[in-house]
Amino acid sequence: MLKRPTGIWNDLKETALSFLYEEQKGCLLCESVAAAGTVICPDCIQKYFHPELGRCHQCGKLIPHSQAKCKDCRDGIGPKGLDQVAAWGHYSGAWREWIQAVKFKAQPYKLKRIARPLADWAIRILPPPHYLVSVPMHFERLAERGFNQAAVIASLLHWELGIPILDVLERTSITSPQVGLNRKERLHNLDGVFQVVNPRNLQAVRGAKIWLVDDVTTTGATFEACAAALKEKGAEEVLGLALAAGME
Ligand SMILES: [Zn+2]
Ligand SMILES: [Zn+2]
Repeated sequence: MLKRPTGIWNDLKETALSFLYEEQKGCLLCESVAAAGTVICPDCIQKYFHPELGRCHQCGKLIPHSQAKCKDCRDGIGPKGLDQVAAWGHYSGAWREWIQAVKFKAQPYKLKRIARPLADWAIRILPPPHYLVSVPMHFERLAERGFNQAAVIASLLHWELGIPILDVLERTSITSPQVGLNRKERLHNLDGVFQVVNPRNLQAVRGAKIWLVDDVTTTGATFEACAAALKEKGAEEVLGLALAAGME
C-alpha cells in the first residue's frame, strides 16, 4: 500500500510538475493556449512572423513576396559581402520584448524553447553550411552579461542540426551603441572591430560556407563587418541568420 508522500517527496513532485508545466505552457509570446505541439500560437505567427511576406535576400527585411530585394538594397545601400541574410520574424511587439528579455534580463534558458522551430525554419530557408559562427561580443561585455545570446542561438542550431560551431571571430573593441546611427555610420563604427583569430581556425575558414548567427539585424552592418573579416580569410559563402529583422 502506498504511504502518504513525505515533505521531501512533495517538494520533488512539485519540482517535477513545474518542469512539466513549463513544457506545456501556452504560446511563448502571448501565453494563450497554442495548438498542441507548437511553441507560438497562430495569431502571434501572423503578427510577428508574417508568413504571407517574403524576405529581402540581401538584408533579411520582410517585404512583399513579389520582390527579391527591399528598396534600400535595390538602391545599393544594403549590406554587401554577405551572400544572403535570413531573418525569422519581425522585430516588433511581443517578439521584440521576448528577445530583449533574453538578452537584458539574463534569461538565455528561454531560447531552448525555440530550438526546434528555429532549426526547422533555418534549414528550410538557407542551404546547409560547413560551420556556424556567432557574432562575438567583446570580453568585457561578456563578463557583464554572462553570456552571448548569439552564441547560445548557434549552440541550439548545432544541437538540433549537428552543424559544427567554429569559434573563430573576436570582437576586439567595444563600440558605442549603434542606435541612432545610419548604416554608413554603423559600418564606420565597426571598422576593424571583428577579426578572425586563432591560426588553427584559418584552415577551416578557407573555402568554407558559413551561417553567421545573431539575435537581431537592423541595418545589416554588424553582419557585414563580420562577413568582411571571414571573407578576407577566404570564406567562400557567408549567410547571415537572425531571430528578427525590420520590415520595409
Ligand atoms: Zn501567441
Ligand atoms: Zn534589403
